[in-house]
Amino acid sequence: MAALARSVLVTGSNRGIGLELVRQLAASPRPPQHIFATCRDPKGPRGKVSVGTGNGMVLSQALQELAAQHSSIKLVQLDTVNLPSIQGAMRAVGYHLKDQGLNLLINNAGISSHATLRSLDSREMLNVFATNVVGPLQVVKEFLPLLEQAAKSTGKEGLSCSRAAVINISTKLGSIGLCLRVPEAPMYPYRASKAAQNMVTRCLAAELQDKGILCVAIHPGWVKTDMGTEEAPLTVEHSVRGILTVLASLSQDTSGAFLDWEGNSLPW
Ligand code: NDP
Repeated sequence: MAALARSVLVTGSNRGIGLELVRQLAASPRPPQHIFATCRDPKGPRGKVSVGTGNGMVLSQALQELAAQHSSIKLVQLDTVNLPSIQGAMRAVGYHLKDQGLNLLINNAGISSHATLRSLDSREMLNVFATNVVGPLQVVKEFLPLLEQAAKSTGKEGLSCSRAAVINISTKLGSIGLCLRVPEAPMYPYRASKAAQNMVTRCLAAELQDKGILCVAIHPGWVKTDMGTEEAPLTVEHSVRGILTVLASLSQDTSGAFLDWEGNSLPW
């Protein structure tokens, strides 16, 4: 089987789903040549123990250890709400890739918020929007030249992750069509931000398809991570195995889609 892509960048890769994406990509039989594992504090630790890392490791220690085992993994500082940080990451990645461009950008970094109507705080809501909507869009804007370069340089036709793609990690809770479990999980800031991120994905898919860049939103399932908590039914390994299988199957026909980790289509 061919590699999913020659180069992949993952945001928020120091723990949870992002860390597991990097781990499974690096361990795959045909790994990408370049895996840019980005996070806010690659030199961590930031002192907090993470659910996703299993044996009590601090935030970026697991990523540092993984990078030490795989020369394909490059650690890059990237805070998705800090424009100079995004631009610095883009320059570092561009330098590594020379003129071949970046094939696959996975906007995984995100934050949750459990605010109810009663407890809602406008600053908190704007903070969630900054991370879940503005951040991923700014990342795409700044990395667009590298994605365009990849779309042109692979010599491939049609749309695919091996040519050029943006994957936004979304959630079913952001689906207006489903509007799931509102009394149990009101989460106004998180749900509204992910619905907005979904619109961003649709707009990007429409705008970038003529440039040869695929855009898709993926719901990873309810996953045992710091965000998903230990209560979640899915392990991070299971979710990410599904996500990577779905990414390998994406094409012109699925660009602009909202899919779950098993490839099922979800209503926006
Ligand atoms: P975690 O809370 O375990 O990890 C979140 C990651 O995002 C961390 O690496 C965190 O970095 C990073 N991050 C947050 N803000 C920024 C920022 N400004 N810049 C860079 N990185 C940042 O969450 P999950 O792994 O569970 O979630 C990953 C994605 O999956 C999110 O987009 C989430 O909404 C989505 N999702 C998760 C579900 C679940 O059940 N777990 C369900 C549906 C969707 P740091 O360590 O520095 O804080």
